[in-house]
Amino acid sequence: METHPMCHEDGTEMVRDVRPVEFSYKGQTMTVAMPGWYCPKCGEGLYTRADMKVSDRALNAMKARCEGLLDGPQIKRIRKKLGLTQAAAGDLIGGGPKAFTKYEKGDALTSRAVTNLLKVLDALPDALTILRENQDRPSC
Ligand SMILES: [Zn+2]
Repeated sequence: METHPMCHEDGTEMVRDVRPVEFSYKGQTMTVAMPGWYCPKCGEGLYTRADMKVSDRALNAMKARCEGLLDGPQIKRIRKKLGLTQAAAGDLIGGGPKAFTKYEKGDALTSRAVTNLLKVLDALPDALTILRENQDRPSC
């Protein structure tokens, strides 16, 4: 069991809870159900690395929307439509074997180039053969 941290404001023992916390990015705001340690007296919040993943993912989803990049669920839908595993998608489209796991969980945003390529492949799935031919070429 993790020991309960003390509030640095008033020394009260903090408790685990999930509370609505508002985040904003370029004028957009989003309320996230944020897990964390909270002070029952003053409401001060303390977040672990795992707690921060929740807000990082929410922030990435908001950034993706703002910047016109595909978000996790959209990327997953297109990858599945193309019949690719996450590792195969990272290999063919770029980014490496873990890239699509990160994109789809919302732990990383795609580059504009990857978003653009995925949009083209979504509209023209047969274009995947072009990438496969390039991948199969002998390396120098
Ligand atoms: Zn407090």
